[in-house]
Amino acid sequence: MKRYVLVLVLLLGGCMGDERSPLETSIYNSENDKIGTATFTERSEGTALKLKVEGLEPGVHGVHIHEFSKCDAPDFKTAGNHFNPLNKEHGLMNEAGSHAGDLPNVEADPGGMVDVELMLPDAKLKEGRDSLLRQEGTSIIIQSGPDDGMSQPSGDSGERIACGKITLDADQDEVSDPTEPDKKQEESG
Ligand SMILES: [Zn+2]
Repeated sequence: MKRYVLVLVLLLGGCMGDERSPLETSIYNSENDKIGTATFTERSEGTALKLKVEGLEPGVHGVHIHEFSKCDAPDFKTAGNHFNPLNKEHGLMNEAGSHAGDLPNVEADPGGMVDVELMLPDAKLKEGRDSLLRQEGTSIIIQSGPDDGMSQPSGDSGERIACGKITLDADQDEVSDPTEPDKKQEESG
């Protein structure tokens, strides 16, 4: 009798699924120093984003979700364009916008700190076309200047200065991937 109870518990436990929400990611600057975190939480009205970062230039900065989960310093160009699964134009003030990855500007205080909660109404963590975790995932990038909410393709917001990967295994991504051939085989002959 006890055996049947145990089997039932194991079956129930196996159905819990993966933990996608909340999802915390680390944010790194162009020197690969960790400067903060972004925590994503799925809600009925979209995905909430708590952004906590230090060490920025005081002032206003653009923040966007980008299409690839790649954060190669120092320019973070490998993150690609803004996350745009609905094929819209850039800009929260654009009538033909906006990208699902467009966010309001944030302001770093005189000490260089940002601690805000933002909302991504057109993005989810659950699987789907508009998921921040689709394929390999996406990334979050902070810009050197403010997004003007209008200019194509990305709001004329200066350089990419910090980046965080949004992936299911975000906490483990510093470990080298064993499936990636990182050892160059020496040709003998
Ligand atoms: Zn955009």
